[in-house]
Amino acid sequence: MAVRLGLTNVASLGPRKALLPVRLPSLLSVPAPDRYPSHHRHFYTSLSSTISPLQLVRDFSQSQITMSASASDLSPISTYAKELAAAKKAASLAARLCQMVQAEILQSDVQSKADKSPVTVADYGSQAIVSFVLDMELSSGPFSMVAEEDSEDLRKDSSKEILSRITELVNDTLSTDPSFCNVILSEEGILSAIDKGTSEGGSSGRHWVLDPIDGTKGFLRGDQYAIALALLDEGKVVLGVLACPNLPLASIQNTTQNVGESGCLFSAIVGNGAWMQSLDEGSSPTKIQVTSTDDPVDASFFESFEAAHSLHDLTSNIAKKLGVKAPPVRIDSQAKYGALARGDGAIYLRFPHKGYREKIWDHAAGYIVVTEAGGVVTDAAGNDLDFSKGRYLDLDTGIMATNKKLMPSLLVAVQDSIKEQQQSASLL
Ligand code: AMP
Ligand code: MG
Repeated sequence: MAVRLGLTNVASLGPRKALLPVRLPSLLSVPAPDRYPSHHRHFYTSLSSTISPLQLVRDFSQSQITMSASASDLSPISTYAKELAAAKKAASLAARLCQMVQAEILQSDVQSKADKSPVTVADYGSQAIVSFVLDMELSSGPFSMVAEEDSEDLRKDSSKEILSRITELVNDTLSTDPSFCNVILSEEGILSAIDKGTSEGGSSGRHWVLDPIDGTKGFLRGDQYAIALALLDEGKVVLGVLACPNLPLASIQNTTQNVGESGCLFSAIVGNGAWMQSLDEGSSPTKIQVTSTDDPVDASFFESFEAAHSLHDLTSNIAKKLGVKAPPVRIDSQAKYGALARGDGAIYLRFPHKGYREKIWDHAAGYIVVTEAGGVVTDAAGNDLDFSKGRYLDLDTGIMATNKKLMPSLLVAVQDSIKEQQQSASLL
């Protein structure tokens, strides 16, 4: 029997997740129009008259490209502190938009549940918000983002209604933040923000990596999902933020039901550890660590809720070989990485069906949260994950994560199980 973790009804959303917007902590103290360079202030006025797409924001950027190079001798925390604040703000606002849409889905009748357009609205809306907020908050250098969505389908005549709904939702969400309460994005501004995510990434320069809703199946079911945002610098993940609106703040170890408040924001900067705080206003981060267990008997493991995303037979065999006694905890999205990073479980196993190519946005944020919490994330051969190859991760067979003590025996169990699986396949 596997353990399933998720929301079961709208009532469990609690007061913070009601449809009314809740104010997020303001990370900046000066009123909005004065905080941005004069060029950004121009964007504000242009936006108010709804003529301007995002291009206006960026045409000053070339003059400021030197900033990241001159910052390279600073410590990691001071190098990326501004980026982290912007990423937290972007992911928290996107989470708010997603929460509003998920609450609507859960309240809708059975017939409209079959309609997948709410998830489309939330996906595009989340990407537009993250792109816009990062662009507004960070004025240093060219902006590159590798993200799941682009605006091609949204530009079709058949998508007019959806685009209008996304625009309304994005503007409503932005208006809940004091920094953006004067902003009104036009439909073209939304499309333009979404298309900032079409970068190919790679091994040089900085690239943001975004999954606007990781775990859309869980999102639709009312279960776990995450807004996953990371920053690559010269091909390495240097910063990550995971907003998990439905993940309980308390440990989910040995629980089959949601307990207490939910809504977690995980964050990490390379060399500065991993942190977790509530998505609520005014929360402060606390440092988190992976479990220190070295005995597989005490270990429990996470895997995808969806059998189509990971081979449950193979993972069950791996767990058996390792001596794991507890049933798998099946949850959607990179919330698994967050839960692992704070020690709710000891192992994460992900073995997709043959031929599936993993995308960097499905792992970048989770990877740095786990590694900064003292864990290890590798492919099935024990290699580190390489995020520098573009939009895909080219890796051997699957992904696993655990603490440093358990990794050697996990690697043996994984390789033995894969060998057995290959041998039985060759006998067929
Ligand atoms: P999870 O919720 O951990 O099962 O993973 C969710 C992510 O799996 C989604 O964001 C998709 O990008 C990705 N995904 C989609 N199809 C597959 C597949 N066939 N195998 C593995 N992962 C997939
Ligand atoms: Mg995803």
